[in-house]
Amino acid sequence: METKKAKRIGVLTSGGDAPGMNAAIRAVVRSALHGGMQVMGVHHGYNGLINGDIVEMNVRSVSEILHRGGTILYTARCKEFRTHEGVLKAKENCEKFGIDGLVVIGGDGSFRGARDLSIEGIPCVGIPGTIDNDISCSDYCIGFDTALNTAVEAVDRLRDTSQSHDRCNVVEIMGHGAGHLALEVGIACGASAIWVNEIEFSPDKDIVDRIMTTGKTGKHHFIVIVGEGITDVHALAKYIEEKTGVESRATVLGHIQRGGTPTAKDRVMATQLGNYAVGLLEKGIGNRVVVIKEDHVEDFDILEALKMKKSINQKLYEVAKTINI
Ligand code: ATP
Repeated sequence: METKKAKRIGVLTSGGDAPGMNAAIRAVVRSALHGGMQVMGVHHGYNGLINGDIVEMNVRSVSEILHRGGTILYTARCKEFRTHEGVLKAKENCEKFGIDGLVVIGGDGSFRGARDLSIEGIPCVGIPGTIDNDISCSDYCIGFDTALNTAVEAVDRLRDTSQSHDRCNVVEIMGHGAGHLALEVGIACGASAIWVNEIEFSPDKDIVDRIMTTGKTGKHHFIVIVGEGITDVHALAKYIEEKTGVESRATVLGHIQRGGTPTAKDRVMATQLGNYAVGLLEKGIGNRVVVIKEDHVEDFDILEALKMKKSINQKLYEVAKTINI
C-alpha cells in the first residue's frame, strides 16, 4: 500500500513488553530525525493514540535506553482499538498531531491493529517484538534472545539445587501457546523432557519412562521444561513424584523472563529493524511488517504476514531427545 511521503511519524509499543523494545524505539527516533522527519512518541500502545497521550521526541529523548529492558513508551492492551470507532478515534488523533506514519512495535495482535489503521489511511509499519518469537514471517522477534538467556540462567540455578537433592524440577516457560522459547531453553539446559504444544507428547512415556530409564544409568536429578498453558506444572510435579518416586518440584518463571537488560543480539536486531521501518515510512510505504529472514531485513504485507504459519524446529527437538539422556 503506497501513500504519501511521511513528514512526522509516531512510534508506539503494544502488547507484552520485550527486552530490546527500547533499542527499537531509539533506532526509530534517531533514523527519522536523521531523515529530516519529526517523531512523536505514543504512550501506552493504542490507548495513547485514542487518548492523545502523545509527546514529541528528540535525539536526547532516547539517550541511555539502549541497554534498558521494558519500554520507555509504556505498553498496553487496548480493547477499544479492536472496534471501528476506536480505530477512527486513533486516526483523528493522528491527524490532530500531524502523524502521517506510525511504527508499531509488538506482536501479531498489534499488527492487526496496524493493518486496521493503515486501511484508514495512516501508513503503519510493524516491528516484531515478543519473547514468544511466534511471528511467522520473521525468523526472529525482538526480546527472544534475552528471554532465552534469562530463562537458561534461572534453570541453571534450579539445576544446582535439583542435583544436590536428587530431585526433578519441572519448569514452566512463557510462550503464549508457542513452544519456541521452551524448546531452546530445554536444549540449552539439557532438559530430560521438553513438552511443547506443537509436538505430540505423553507424560507417561516422555517423562516417567524416561526418568526411570535414565535413572538406571546413574542419573539422579532431572529437569522437565513445559510450555506455558499446557498443563498445571504443580500437578505434573506431583504426578511425576508419585509415578517415579523422585521428589519433584515445580517452578513458574513467569514475568522474570520478560525483564532485564537486552542482550547484544536483541540490541543489534532492534536497531536494524527500527532503521528499516523508518526507511519504509520515509518512502510513504505502509501496511508492512519488517522482519529478519536469513540474516537479512525484509518487509511483508501485514495481511500476508499474519496468514503465515511458523512451525517448531522439529529437528532440534529430536536432537535434544537423543542427547539429553
Ligand atoms: P504479545 O505477543 O505480547 O501478546 P500482541 O501484539 O500479539 O503481543 P495483543 O494483546 O494480541 O498483543 O494485541 C495488542 C493490542 O493490539 C490489543 O490490545 C489491541 O489494541 C490491538 N489488537 C489486537 N488484535 C486486534 C485486532 N484484531 N484488530 C485491531 N486491533 C487489535
